[in-house]
Amino acid sequence: MIDTHAHLHFPQFDEDREEVIKECEEKLEAVITVGCDLEDSRKAISLAENSKNIFATVGIHPHEAKNYSEKDYDKLINLAKSPKVVAVGEAGLDFYRNLSPKEKQYEIFEMQVEAAKELKLPVIIHTRNAAKEMADFIRKHFEGVKGVVHCFSGEKELLEAALDTGLFISYSGIVTYPKNSSLRETLKYVPSSRLLIETDSPYLAPQPVRGKRNKPIFVAYTARAIAEFLGLKFSDIDRITSVNAKRLFNLPLSSEESKEKLVYQVGNRLYINLTTKCPCNCKFCFRGYEDFILGYKLKLSREPIAEEYMYRIKNPGVYEEIVFCGYGEPFERFEELKKVAEWIKKFSKETPVRVDTCGLGYLITGREDILDELKGIVDSFSISVNAGTPEEYRRIVKPKFGEKSWNSLLKFIKDVKEKGFNVQITAVRYPGFDEKSFKELSEKLGVPFKIREFKRFKKWEE
Ligand code: SF4
Repeated sequence: MIDTHAHLHFPQFDEDREEVIKECEEKLEAVITVGCDLEDSRKAISLAENSKNIFATVGIHPHEAKNYSEKDYDKLINLAKSPKVVAVGEAGLDFYRNLSPKEKQYEIFEMQVEAAKELKLPVIIHTRNAAKEMADFIRKHFEGVKGVVHCFSGEKELLEAALDTGLFISYSGIVTYPKNSSLRETLKYVPSSRLLIETDSPYLAPQPVRGKRNKPIFVAYTARAIAEFLGLKFSDIDRITSVNAKRLFNLPLSSEESKEKLVYQVGNRLYINLTTKCPCNCKFCFRGYEDFILGYKLKLSREPIAEEYMYRIKNPGVYEEIVFCGYGEPFERFEELKKVAEWIKKFSKETPVRVDTCGLGYLITGREDILDELKGIVDSFSISVNAGTPEEYRRIVKPKFGEKSWNSLLKFIKDVKEKGFNVQITAVRYPGFDEKSFKELSEKLGVPFKIREFKRFKKWEE
């Protein structure tokens, strides 16, 4: 687990810093101690240089902006040359206490974004009472710059601008506070590949240690609360946020983390990643933008054979469900899908097997008898439809088979139902999604539906 934002070099740790660092070394993979002005950043660097798993940043907090000018640019660049420096910041806008004039805050923030570009480092963004201004700033200045909105406090406009621009979102202990349900709700809109956690210690201790001085190992409480809210395991949030932190701050991934995953576990389910190919081009799809999903590298550089999946699944009986769902469309590899599903059922008849599909299996394989071959080895289908009408379907899903796709999809859904498989159709609630017509379609087909929240990976273009 990685605490991506702490201030371990602050005076609140003077009395027991060594002890706190020892805990961090034993229980965390890394801690980033964040500088708030140049002198403070020197302290952060010195601390990081003396500890293996502590990293530092160089930055000027908006409160301190009044004490700096563009003349300090070179000093910042030189400080950031320590190999333990992994980011610029915290930098940003704070209109809550206005301890620096607004114009000065903008000037010093822009200067730091320029420095980050030159240094090729991400920016740690601080913002308070400035969500709209920050959203505008991000849209204008962060094209091609990596970074994270630290201690995100739930503003929708800011979230959209940050995700559109490719930034990460970091949740602190405030997400654990009972009254903060609207902040927790925002977790549903953050792609797994952009999620980070932090303590902001010594401040903002999470439940159940709220009110105490915060310290990096308490980041685990935040991870636990997020896991509970998202219905995931603690280990899932640990993996997801650690891999994300390493990707953002250029820390080395372990050999296991860098491997392309043919099978991957989330919660008690095992997922099978057969291919990167898909006949669709959904407007909201992550493919082409993210190689890592849910903390796993899912983009495959080759098409593995069925036996490689069997070898990795090992014991199918230990999973709540096994799902064919990965970076691409399982029917693109129908023969491997069949072989692996057959093997699973041979060893564990009771383990439910599901196929998550775009529903264009007939067009992909050029055959309409494929469902018969899946009888007894697949139990259910989750079919992503994402529209209630053929026009909307073509506009959003953009299947390569064109006009004939809609009718083939509907026939596939009807056949799946008629042949006795369990089936549900799904949609993503993208901007402008016509929920009414999608629900009408589900009723007409007589199959249940599920709607998932829209997670932005890039700017939504109409
Ligand atoms: S069907 Fe799934 S994998 Fe294919 S483009 Fe759409 S969202 Fe992406």
